[in-house]
Amino acid sequence: MSFSSLGLSRPLLKAVEGQQYANPYPIQEQAIPAILRGRDILGIAQTGSGKTASFVLPILEYFQGERIGRNRFVKALVLVPTRELAVQVAEVFQTFSAGLPRKVKTLAVYGGVSINPQMIALQNTEIVVATPGRLLDLVSSNALRLSAIEMLVLDEADKMLNLGFEEEMQQIFELLPTKRQTLLFSATLGDAVDKIQANILKSPLRIDV
Ligand code: AMP
Repeated sequence: MSFSSLGLSRPLLKAVEGQQYANPYPIQEQAIPAILRGRDILGIAQTGSGKTASFVLPILEYFQGERIGRNRFVKALVLVPTRELAVQVAEVFQTFSAGLPRKVKTLAVYGGVSINPQMIALQNTEIVVATPGRLLDLVSSNALRLSAIEMLVLDEADKMLNLGFEEEMQQIFELLPTKRQTLLFSATLGDAVDKIQANILKSPLRIDV
């Protein structure tokens, strides 16, 4: 299978070519067409599987068309367990969006560093990659509103739960619009992840790679 059969438009395919990805990895082959059709996803996938591009590409595709709101608020939120992963995922969004006709600003926000620069940098940001605690701090400071979010991704959900973020995650879910698309990725599917997925995903496509 090739990237051109997944439903991505020409600009996104050019972005993929720029990364010299020859063919999609299995998770990308299964997830990208389903996400573009609007499905929720439960992806059981490890680091190294190519899971990041499997959600980054369709989300950027949405921003190229009419599929996503034209307001100035954050429209896609990716929750991650660690600062390192936040930076890494935001970089993948930035790399793929560099040559796209419609520019999309992505910002990584995480704890352990001063909040003020992040508050300022949030201006005009449309995609936020965040650790749960810092995201809630930014919301309480009115630096960020979650009411325009149309896409939610949980990346490494099992690790987020293992690090004790369950309560923060629940608080965030309550602040999000219920009309949205949700993608959950986890290396394992234990009881805790299963409970979360059952609460937040709507008839998801389950992908095991
Ligand atoms: P991830 O599992 O998302 O952390 O990705 C693991 C690594 O695989 C990253 O370095 C990606 O750049 C790379 N990668 C992702 N998809 C592909 C692909 N289709 N072809 C080649 N490399 C890829």
